[in-house]
Amino acid sequence: MFNLVLFGPPGSGKGTQSDHLVARYGLKHLSTGNLLRKEIADQTPLGLEAKRYIDAGQLVPDAVVIGMVGAYFDQNPDAAGFLFDGFPRTVAQAEALDELLSQRQTSIARVLALEVTEEELVKRLLNRGKTSGRTDDTDESVIRKRFSVYTQETSPVADYYQNKGKFQSIPGEGTVEGISEALCQAIDAVR
Ligand code: AMP
Repeated sequence: MFNLVLFGPPGSGKGTQSDHLVARYGLKHLSTGNLLRKEIADQTPLGLEAKRYIDAGQLVPDAVVIGMVGAYFDQNPDAAGFLFDGFPRTVAQAEALDELLSQRQTSIARVLALEVTEEELVKRLLNRGKTSGRTDDTDESVIRKRFSVYTQETSPVADYYQNKGKFQSIPGEGTVEGISEALCQAIDAVR
């Protein structure tokens, strides 16, 4: 298996870039944000619980997210590999992911982090909010809250992978195609 993490703050382009990468490398796209929004749309108990956190710009509790990822693995036993998008977002999630992967005799090959300035991120998110129907993208105070959560809880995940020699930054501003090309070069170098 070949597993990648696409890392970066909200609005850095993880979702956009994922579509191309999963098609090119034959990976399964695992976006915890998408899985949570599906639970909300289906009005499951998990979705109802998650919605409170998402609307407030906070992280959904680790146990909920880790359980969901474990279930997704079980549902996709034949996957050639996974592209993780928006997960892991805490060090506890990163440790749980390592454990889940090692149970399947595999691991993370590389963590690619999209670097974008905060000013550009706010602009992109407010723009996305006009069409995405995502309530967490329309309110600038919720967007700012998500950035502060990112700095406090998610940035340490970068150090976690840096210490394992798996972390690589990629400039996340420019054309979609240019950024995609940079990601592919980084992937091809370790594949
Ligand atoms: P995203 O679509 O990745 O931006 O996620 C939207 C929202 O879902 C986040 O602001 C969190 O509230 C929640 N969420 C998504 N992924 C995770 C995760 N790995 N851990 C905790 N909360 C998450």
